[in-house]
Amino acid sequence: MPKYECPKCSNGKGIINAFSHVLGGVCFKCKGTGFIEQKNKPTISKQYSFSFLWTDPNHCNYQNGDFCKCFIKKARSESAAIKIAEKAMKANGSVDFKVSEVVE
Ligand SMILES: [Zn+2]
Repeated sequence: MPKYECPKCSNGKGIINAFSHVLGGVCFKCKGTGFIEQKNKPTISKQYSFSFLWTDPNHCNYQNGDFCKCFIKKARSESAAIKIAEKAMKANGSVDFKVSEVVE
């Protein structure tokens, strides 16, 4: 079985800093080895925050010319997140968008 870097802790150390108060932060997915063995390459998805800009003052999401934080969604990469944002922009009638990675 091929070995991959653990997508959960994704630093090859087997430690999740956010959970350092639980069993010293040892990652449950790879049991602290930093690697997992499975058939297919794991997809690492990150959380992205999506903001959109509306310029129409009559729109319910109009924020006096500021971006409106709309939703947080998982995506495999920033380019995948941008594709989601472009699609959403067409659907929601906004004129611009911002995508930023949510750092936990
Ligand atoms: Zn891990």
